[in-house]
Amino acid sequence: METLLVFLALLGVTSTQQLFVGDQVLRVSARNEEQISLLGVLGEQEELQVDFWRHPNSPGHPVDLRVPFLTLQGVKKFLDFHNFSYSIMIEDVQELLDEEKESMRRSRRIKRSSRTFDFASYHTIDEIYDWMDVLVEDHPSLVSKIQIGQSYENRPLYVLKFSTGGRNRPAIWLDTGIHAREWITHATGVWTANKIASEYGQDPSVTAILDSMDIFLEIVTNPDGFAFTHSSNRLWRKTRSKYSGNLCVGVDPNRNWDAGFGEAGASSSSCSETYHGPYANSEPEVKSIVDFVQSHGNIKAFVSIHSYSQLLLYPYGYTYTAVPDQQELHEVSAKAVAALSSLYGTQYKYGSIITTIYRASGGTIDWTYNQGIKYSFTFELRDTGRYGFLLPAKQIVPTAEETWLALKVIMEHARDNLY
Ligand SMILES: [Zn+2]
Repeated sequence: METLLVFLALLGVTSTQQLFVGDQVLRVSARNEEQISLLGVLGEQEELQVDFWRHPNSPGHPVDLRVPFLTLQGVKKFLDFHNFSYSIMIEDVQELLDEEKESMRRSRRIKRSSRTFDFASYHTIDEIYDWMDVLVEDHPSLVSKIQIGQSYENRPLYVLKFSTGGRNRPAIWLDTGIHAREWITHATGVWTANKIASEYGQDPSVTAILDSMDIFLEIVTNPDGFAFTHSSNRLWRKTRSKYSGNLCVGVDPNRNWDAGFGEAGASSSSCSETYHGPYANSEPEVKSIVDFVQSHGNIKAFVSIHSYSQLLLYPYGYTYTAVPDQQELHEVSAKAVAALSSLYGTQYKYGSIITTIYRASGGTIDWTYNQGIKYSFTFELRDTGRYGFLLPAKQIVPTAEETWLALKVIMEHARDNLY
């Protein structure tokens, strides 16, 4: 890292934003368990700065890794030496970042007033928070904004509440952006909030959901990390918390929940992208949701949205033990995925976390399921790796549209099968 900074200083680069010039994303296929563990070894060599975009799981599944320009030769040598086959998914990460930035600039130039919002563009946290206020103003009898806590860096944690009345109605929770760099999820959250607000009273199914249930939607679930992706490092994933004795900043907020916390499927090294944190619920971004869910006590469906890989997942991630509701969750997933695919043909896989991707402990929906929220799901949105976390803005609206169809299936199922 230090050499990289010196290198950039020599180039006269003054921006505080980390550059990724010449970084590549490689897709590696591991043929056997030995190769899987070799990839683990590669990841542990911290001087190589390999950033896993898709983690190794089982032989045959693709593994995507971003490799900094400065260690590219060394990593490719390692892969060649151990007879891996690999291809280059992204030739130059910085090129995609430049395009992304330019498209945000274009969108801002054509913005006509403070009340218009370009759903087909990526936005900063300030833009999203301002827009949330506009949405509330435009739909005062349906939408309100509540604050469930504060982030580590004291940013407010806002949740949009869609409610037509009643007291503590059965509820659906949706969250996006718990991993900061998964920008397509925040953008999908924004679009979805607008969709819910505009479909009430128009779409009979959405109307029926909101006549009996409340919907809560946290769009910027990891605000410190998200702000950091805009200001400093577009590819930041974790929170921004600091703990004395830790070498690196941040905790993986999807390994920090009190469900198999600290077991296999998370890292105890603070520099790892999957660092579980010093103890369960250490992250205020996680603890605030935990407190909210427990004090609400009537949440029936919980959907946490990530990217990328095109998957719809249900618990568990920390154990091979099947959940008691496995069959029902599997059937709902099949229906949701079919609805999603019906729009643009986007193919999703589905199943439990541990059987479909890999063992992951301390995950959100394992905790919510163990709290008694039967309809607990996680999405991994587009794509399957062509752009990875850098999905072009022109795919935002199609992604949100197709995801909405799947979300509707889950919400309708919860509505019709209250327990
Ligand atoms: Zn994620």
